[in-house]
Amino acid sequence: MSQHSSQEKLIGNTWRGKTSEELFERAKLVSPGGVHSPVRSFRSVGGTPVFFASANGATLTDIQGKEYVDYCLSFGPLILGHRDPEVEEVVRETAGLAWSFGTAEPYSLELAEFITNQIPWAEKVRFVNSGTEAVMSALRVARAATGREKILKFDGCYHGHLDALLVKTGSGLAGESSSDSAGISAHSIANTLVLPLDDESVVEELFAKEGKDIAALIIEPLPANYGLLIQRKEFLLKIVETAKKHGTLVIFDEVISGFRTGFQGMSGLLGVRPDLVTYGKIIGGGFPVGCYAGRKDLLDLVAPSGPVYQAGTLSASPFGMRAGLATLKKTQRDNVYPIIEQRTKTLTEGLVSILNQRGDQEWEAVIHSSLFWLRKKTSEPVRRVDQISEGHKEGFAKVFHALLNEGIYLAPSGYEVGFLSFAHTDLVISKTLEIAQKALTKN
Ligand SMILES: *Cc1c(COP(=O)(O)O)cnc(C)c1O
Repeated sequence: MSQHSSQEKLIGNTWRGKTSEELFERAKLVSPGGVHSPVRSFRSVGGTPVFFASANGATLTDIQGKEYVDYCLSFGPLILGHRDPEVEEVVRETAGLAWSFGTAEPYSLELAEFITNQIPWAEKVRFVNSGTEAVMSALRVARAATGREKILKFDGCYHGHLDALLVKTGSGLAGESSSDSAGISAHSIANTLVLPLDDESVVEELFAKEGKDIAALIIEPLPANYGLLIQRKEFLLKIVETAKKHGTLVIFDEVISGFRTGFQGMSGLLGVRPDLVTYGKIIGGGFPVGCYAGRKDLLDLVAPSGPVYQAGTLSASPFGMRAGLATLKKTQRDNVYPIIEQRTKTLTEGLVSILNQRGDQEWEAVIHSSLFWLRKKTSEPVRRVDQISEGHKEGFAKVFHALLNEGIYLAPSGYEVGFLSFAHTDLVISKTLEIAQKALTKN
């Protein structure tokens, strides 16, 4: 590969010709669990993580040249697939402009104007580098605006790895929480309340008692980080109404659902105007971008216009700003949402019918827009963590490996959802189903 030779001295290429097993052994020596985000390690499904070297459209290519159809898509950001040709052109052009400015520049302005023009409740926006950062900053704004300390979150929603929200339901009183990670001081979660999803009455009870102390209610309006726990619209509307009645700010965490369930995300579908909203994933077109947005008076509390400090050396990187804008504009121009939604139906109907030929258990696909979650069929919809069937993880792991073996890459955990992109054409889907038929009916 002569194109690599001029950079060889700079970047090494010591992985060439090696297997994933060999690289994983090396990776474990230099990084915890061999990875830089836990799910990538395959802990949940067992086996060795596949090391990938490149990707294009709907296809991932591993270090030995084997191709896989990708339904993980970097856990959601790649709504147009890998390296969409039009976005790639923008990215290449950006490489010739600047990689980071640390100054005022026009590219974040254009993305900010585009978003604020299209999403009425995003009156102002601030760009950061990840979903975690966006959520952390939105909470700070909410506390500053209300002068209150407490935050209410819901069990089964993931909001990034900030201390204050790495909590689970405590065993004691309603709303009490305990830490979900080592290394978190009791102090940082002392003001975090946790309630189960799908139960508006406990939310009302909590607000009746503590409403005047709760700065913000934060929720994934489409919880998609613990399987896909689709909520009842009445539940979502009721808790929003309850929070507003008590002067509590509503933060919709749309890091995964934003620009995915439609351009206006779940807020648009529900007709809810959150006070603050967080974005990530799709907004950077595959580059690290997060964003918190919302009411102008709230965003104006942020430095330098207000007293809430928040900053970022690499914030509003030109790659993320320009790839993000191109990605968002293309989803609109090409009417991407209804098309990939239809393809998600075709794919999951096909997969479920193949899975059910195995006869080990009855499967179903929970889908919303272009997100899907495969699991054991249940008589009632699953809306809370404690309703997920026993043995789900093990059942998923078997299917995951059977598919992986034949060249279909799902997110390596039964608690992660799958995604489709615009690059998953009808042809890609029928090819996937052909592969799945072979993979899943083999044994
Ligand atoms: C992915 C995700 C986050 C965290 O974003 P990172 O960019 O991984 O920090 C936060 N909230 C939700 C709803 C997410 O899906």
